[in-house]
Amino acid sequence: MSHDAEHMDCSQALYRMMEYVDGEMTADDTRLLAAHLTSCAPCLAEHDLDKVLRDVVHRSCAQEQAPPQLRATIMQRITTICDNGSWTEVTQVRRISAEG
Ligand SMILES: [Zn+2]
Repeated sequence: MSHDAEHMDCSQALYRMMEYVDGEMTADDTRLLAAHLTSCAPCLAEHDLDKVLRDVVHRSCAQEQAPPQLRATIMQRITTICDNGSWTEVTQVRRISAEG
């Protein structure tokens, strides 16, 4: 530890961003990273991105399964793909998923 331990640089901030977003850092480290974010726009942008990503992942995991209709459609498409190996069917599944 150097006397500079009270200052977190961008590489440290970015390296530990997911820990910060997940709330897994110590109180001291959280304070240091939070302080860095108030004075560093690029890291703050990365933080916002990671936070959104984390929220989306949490929501996806919390939901036990896809809506029945979407699930049935996808399963039916997958079955069709397995039957005739059509790449067109794969792209249709992708489009359906994106619209869902
Ligand atoms: Zn920074």
